[in-house]
This record gives sequence, C-alpha cells and structure tokens, in this order.
Amino acid sequence: MANTVSCAPGSPAPVTGSNTRPPVAAGKPASGLMRALVKARAAEGLDFTSDRPLPLSASQPDLPRGEPGPGEVLIRVKKAGVCGTDRHIFEWDEWAKSRIPVGIVTGHEFVGTVEKLGAGVTNCHVGQRVSAEGHITSFNDYNSRTGNAHIASDTRILGVDRDGCFAELLIIPASNVWPMHEAIPDKFAAIMDPLGNAVHTVMSAGVSTKSVLITGVGIIGLMAVTVARAAGAARIYATDTNPRRLDLARKLGAAEVFNPLTDKAWIERIKRETRGDGVDVLLEMSGSPAATDQGFSALRNGGTAALLGIPSKPFAFDLTNHVVFKGAKVLGINGRKMWETWYQMENLLVSGRLELDDIVTHELPMERADEAFRLMQSGEGIKIVLNVG
Ligand code: ZN
Repeated sequence: MANTVSCAPGSPAPVTGSNTRPPVAAGKPASGLMRALVKARAAEGLDFTSDRPLPLSASQPDLPRGEPGPGEVLIRVKKAGVCGTDRHIFEWDEWAKSRIPVGIVTGHEFVGTVEKLGAGVTNCHVGQRVSAEGHITSFNDYNSRTGNAHIASDTRILGVDRDGCFAELLIIPASNVWPMHEAIPDKFAAIMDPLGNAVHTVMSAGVSTKSVLITGVGIIGLMAVTVARAAGAARIYATDTNPRRLDLARKLGAAEVFNPLTDKAWIERIKRETRGDGVDVLLEMSGSPAATDQGFSALRNGGTAALLGIPSKPFAFDLTNHVVFKGAKVLGINGRKMWETWYQMENLLVSGRLELDDIVTHELPMERADEAFRLMQSGEGIKIVLNVG
C-alpha cells in the first residue's frame, strides 16, 4: 500500500445498500435511483450502475431512501477524488478482501452541495457547497473527547465501511460536513482528504526553517512537497523510484531529488549539505521498508520522523540505531485532525501558496472510472478527479 493510503485499517463492517447488479450504460436514472460506482463483485473492478437505490439514513434506517435522519444531511456529489484506497478496492487486494463489504458504494473524497437537512441540523444549509471529513465517529470515546477524533476507536470510513461518494447522492452526519470556501475551486475542494493527510503530516512534524526529506512522492508525497514549501521548510529533498514524479517534486519545490535505485550516494550527499548531521525532518510517505530505512539513515540525531506510508506487512527495522541511539522523535500519522487540519488547508489554499494544478492530472466522468484506475496503474495519471454530478 505504498504512497497513497489515507485510511487506517479497522474492524470490518456489515454490507450496506443493495447488492451485485450488472453494469449498465450511462444515462439518467429513474426516480428513486441514482448513478454510482459499486464494489458489486468479490473480484477486480468497480461496476458503474445507473439504478442504485438512493442512500439510506444510518441514524434512522427505517426512513424512506434519500431521507437524511436526525443529525444527518443528504449531499448531491459534484466531483470526487480517486484515492489509493479506491485503487486497492478496485484491484481487490488482500487488504480490500479483508475489509470491504461487497455491495458498497466506494469513494470518500468529494465536493458537492447540501440537498436536504435531517432533523436538528443547524451547521449547514440547503444549497451550500461542502466537502466532508470521511472518518465518522460517534464523538464519544476518549480521543474524540480530547481533541483527537481523527484517531477515535469507533471510526467508520466513508466508502470503506459504509456507502461513499462515488454516487450522485450521499448521506453523512452533519457533524462531518465542512463548508467550502468560495475561493477554492471544485477540483481542489474534491481532494481535501488526501491534502489533509499531507498537511497533517507536515504540520505535525514542524518544518519551518528545517531541512526536510520526503521519502516517496506519490500523490500525498507530492502534496507534502508543496505544503512543506508553503509552511516554510528551508530545504526539501525527495526520493522516489519514478523519474516523472521526481521531476514533478522538483517543480513543486524540492531542491534536490534522488532515485535510490540509480543513485547509491544520495544519503552521503544530503549529509554533506547538512553539516554532516542529516536532515532535521523525515516525512515517510512510501510505506517501503527500504525507503524507511534510508530515510532514518538520512535523519540527524534528535530529528523528527513523521510516518504516513503504510507498509504492506511487518518488516525488520533497526530500532536501536534509527530511533533509540539517534534520540529520534517518531510520529504516526493517521487521517486529518478535526478540524485543525481543515482550517490549515483552507488557509493554505486561499492564500494561493499551494501548487496542486500539476498533481491533478485528469478529470473524467464517473462512467469512465475504469480508465481512471488504468491511468493510475500505468503511472500516467497522478491524482484523478471524477465528475459525478
Ligand atoms: Zn483518500
């Protein structure tokens, strides 16, 4: 799960919504039905359908379909980002098999407009342009009550544990809704989720005036380059095995980029440029054991490592030298802070200091989702946004 996974694994959830429908051609759905991308079969692929029943309220499931329950809102989705998590679900890898209920509508990054309010909702209004935090919790556990709802023990994730946003309509708790600033264009408003991963990682590590190494410049690693630059990093280094992504990292603000497959002396070079010490901050975004080992080798004693990449399985790691003797500070990063990270993102986007144009490489209609996944698999596409509405 290199580079791109924004959602932490957790307990499996029951199947939601209707099940296994054959793919159908695009077109306007009949009333009471909607267009959607469904994980309809326990096999590779996502099926496009135009006869998905409207979403059900989670807070009051006996309501008619399409009716938000108390504390919920119905949202008409406009654009949705395709995440690495969605690619795992599309490819039906071991993680997806262990986690994803067949029959679910996938997708968790979106922008849309509020269509209907459930009882008691006062924090948004019909017609408002919104995005939403995809990590849903009851806000009752220890972490939720102490300002850390992003790591709540009861988190359920949109498009992973319950029906998501690759559909015309979506029901979500109003407490998860984020009103979107008018200066933020739709294609960036649709990718607040992964941008939030990058911002949370960069801001947790603290990069102002620091030398920063980013290992792995997939979607979130590339976002981390532009965020770290905007947040005042003194010098940014990036590694990856994909030359095109390295070129883009340089364009976005990395002073030097390295391909560890072809350059065996890059760690020494970084050390020479940092008084022999190594970088102040490591942002590990690849999940690769080799990249993690190299990243810690390039980190100075007393440096800070923020880890977002998710290794596909446990691996051997030199804890003694990389963490204990080094006196390194190690941070695990999951999701985005509710709502500190969202305010930071809004400020950064509205300030115009983030360069995301080159990261969103394609916009496609939802019907062409297969093409989106092929573009991601080939490396030709980086971030792909689907036009849903
Ligand atoms: Zn995502």
